[in-house]
Amino acid sequence: QALAAAKEGGRGQLMCFSSEGHKRRNAESLTLELELRQGLRRGELTLHYQPQVRLGDGQCIGAEALLRWHHPTRGLVMPAAFVPMALDVGLRGVIDRFVLEQTCQQIARWQDAGLPVLPVSINLSLTTLLEEGFAADLRHCLQSWAVPKSALHIEVIETVHYPRLADAHWDLHALQELGVELALDDFGTGYSSLAMLKDLPVARIKIDRRFIRNITEDQRDDHIVAALVQLGRDLGLSIVAEGIETDAQRNRLQALGCTHGQGYLFGKPVAAEEFATQFLVAERSADAQIPLRPLTV
Ligand code: C2E
Ligand code: MG
Ligand code: MG
Ligand code: MG
Repeated sequence: QALAAAKEGGRGQLMCFSSEGHKRRNAESLTLELELRQGLRRGELTLHYQPQVRLGDGQCIGAEALLRWHHPTRGLVMPAAFVPMALDVGLRGVIDRFVLEQTCQQIARWQDAGLPVLPVSINLSLTTLLEEGFAADLRHCLQSWAVPKSALHIEVIETVHYPRLADAHWDLHALQELGVELALDDFGTGYSSLAMLKDLPVARIKIDRRFIRNITEDQRDDHIVAALVQLGRDLGLSIVAEGIETDAQRNRLQALGCTHGQGYLFGKPVAAEEFATQFLVAERSADAQIPLRPLTV
């Protein structure tokens, strides 16, 4: 099957790359593409939700939607094993629209259940964001699920080189008009973090986990994070630190002026139902000041 597809779609590449390694890699990514398309049709892809919290009091203020693939034979596949490849083999548009649709549907379910509406962040590649008509698709999706624009945030993943941004002026404007908040994901790790920060209408930056991991042991990481936090504050942005696993990391981040965070210390990504029970139901109870013990009638 993969080879048939290789002949059909990837001939140019197979001809260009003569080494066995490249051929194998190409066949592998074609198999993945076919399996992933099938998986999407069969409902094997789902989203897990990880809390995003205020560092001061640990209060959950939103969630990040993260893709999971329940593969029939390989079991649970994490995004690192298929998202980068998928974006590469032409499934970016399909995946991004799937994530957008699923997330809006999930927010609508939580709304219908009377749960508090916390913003859910989705990961989208810059390429998608810059596509003509994407702002219109986004608006349509929000409308059809009756989801307020404040309930959806976008984490922008850098997938194109910066210069292409120049062509996208109008659609960025359309996105800005739409009012969906943008965050720069994995800030500081890409080719053009600063250029993107200059030109995109972002409200937030997310400091990548690789800078947080050793923040309490490595002076250099500490300095880098301090500078990123300061930059964000000077620009009036909120700053979310990724991958917080220990109290020491949380305390250091707070001391540096970082206000928000995400990480196993506060909660791992979990299925929608579990997220609702752990974070949304609890908050509704707190809001409504309903006693934690169920009332007996
Ligand atoms: P990301 O957007 O930077 O997401 C954060 C990743 O760090 C997630 O991994 C999350 O589970 C993990 N993480 C969060 N807290 C901790 C922690 O305390 N310790 C450790 N060790 N890890 C933590 P995940 O879910 O495997 O996703 C990896 C990457 O895959 C994401 O990085 C994102 O770039 C991409 N991805 C995930 N879902 C989607 C999606 O729906 N669309 C696109 N385009 N990319 C996605
Ligand atoms: Mg993200
Ligand atoms: Mg991130
Ligand atoms: Mg990251």
